[in-house]
Amino acid sequence: MVMSTTSTVSRIIFNFNGKCNMNCPYCYIPFRQADGSLELWKNIIVRCKQWKPKMIVFGGGDPFMFQGFRDLLRFSHDEEIFIHVDTNALALHPRDVQLIIDSVDQIGLPFDGTETSHAAMRKHPKHFAVVRKWLEELLNKGVRVKVNTVVSALNKDTLFELAEFLQGYPISQWCLYQFWPLEAGLQNEAVFRISDDEYLAVAQLIAKKYSFTKIDIATVASRLSSHFFVSSTGVAYTEDINNVSDYIFLGSIFDDDILTKWQKYGNDSIAAARANFRMNVEQ
Ligand code: SF4
Repeated sequence: MVMSTTSTVSRIIFNFNGKCNMNCPYCYIPFRQADGSLELWKNIIVRCKQWKPKMIVFGGGDPFMFQGFRDLLRFSHDEEIFIHVDTNALALHPRDVQLIIDSVDQIGLPFDGTETSHAAMRKHPKHFAVVRKWLEELLNKGVRVKVNTVVSALNKDTLFELAEFLQGYPISQWCLYQFWPLEAGLQNEAVFRISDDEYLAVAQLIAKKYSFTKIDIATVASRLSSHFFVSSTGVAYTEDINNVSDYIFLGSIFDDDILTKWQKYGNDSIAAARANFRMNVEQ
């Protein structure tokens, strides 16, 4: 069991666990909860801010599919906290660009290989084109964009082609996430599973060959116990270090002992290091 000595949470990942507008077969989100309400979401953010995190990440299901999320973003904006939003871009509207400029420090967009490979990974033939359109739109408006790629047995051979594509864009970071068998991903593990050696062989070669952006080599082991997730209904959870294919639900974010549980089951030093990396803070 990992113990950390901090009394804070350096990086909080606010996930919308009610539903998503995609159905990616490798998804790691535990979609077992309700959507929550804007009032509850704001109370969650107030609670999170008490801990003075370095970073709040909003993520899947796609945050922008919830109309109230736009109000939540305005509410969450804070000069002292780095706000990152991961989106699949399907629910983005041209009106959202100004909101992003005003309230968001970084947007994460997904590319999971070449157009064909991305479609196979996500079971969505037109998604690559949508994300590409938004990549160009947001970069043109000066938004800082990070690209997320899930690396699996299915797409590993197309990642050099993806690198050639991405190097044409001034992205802030490219994160190569080793596929993690959780939730839907666990059910479909036979399709996506990639060993540490296979993953590192491709990720390290890419990092050696390409220098157009900062490349994050993110094995499962390097991320384990670094995630303080909070659901859109206020449930805090993290991965189970004794079973990497399961979560530990810590309780309500409003519980008095929730930080004690984070100290017991999470590792805030890793969370802080990953937040610094995201924010481009030298360590
Ligand atoms: S991976 Fe992201 S976009 Fe796909 S189903 Fe999960 S939350 Fe939605």
